[in-house]
Amino acid sequence: MKVTNAEFVISAVRPDQYPGDALPEIALAGRSNVGKSSLINRMINRKNLARTSSTPGKTQHLNYYRINDQLYFVDLPGYGYAKVSKTQRQVWGQMIEKYLLERDRLKLILLVIDLRHPPTKDDEMMYDWLKHYDLPVCVVGTKADKIPKSRWQKHIKIIKDSLVLRARDEFVMFSSEEGIGKDELWSHISRHILE
Ligand code: GDP
Repeated sequence: MKVTNAEFVISAVRPDQYPGDALPEIALAGRSNVGKSSLINRMINRKNLARTSSTPGKTQHLNYYRINDQLYFVDLPGYGYAKVSKTQRQVWGQMIEKYLLERDRLKLILLVIDLRHPPTKDDEMMYDWLKHYDLPVCVVGTKADKIPKSRWQKHIKIIKDSLVLRARDEFVMFSSEEGIGKDELWSHISRHILE
């Protein structure tokens, strides 16, 4: 997809703030600091439309980015940040659960995972939860530039095996730094927004 226009729309805390124009939505889930903002920026060729932050867990909102008047990227709050209180975590859970289960225009969830490490318990729980509800997922293994090419396949296998990646779910190796996987990810997204 050729991105000609991308804009930040809203940081939503309640469903009535979600955009009402019925464009398809692609959500990004992943633990704090995994690289979701960087991924969005790379996908839309912008340096910092999506805020990249060194303070993980800060964003408690659903951040909507409109792309080409064709779709939204919806950046979900990062999970697994130890300093977030239990109450905050519960609020997070309720808001995200409601969004993921009730948003009918949600077409695909990008589950962003650090390619360097095996999935965390939170990553595994997130994937299992999404699969329990039969939601379509594309797992994105990001920060590929940080490991040598010769080890990519090994890392991919560890992630796929740990998650028990289902046959209908895609896996894309990605690097926001170098642009690896960008075209492949766009082609999956394009297919899902047409479904
Ligand atoms: P978020 O909290 O998930 O939105 O994570 P950010 O996008 O803010 O990224 C967290 C940190 O990881 C930042 O310092 C980024 O520069 C870095 N980062 C993100 N993606 C990549 C990548 O693909 N390669 C490298 N080398 N660094 C990355």
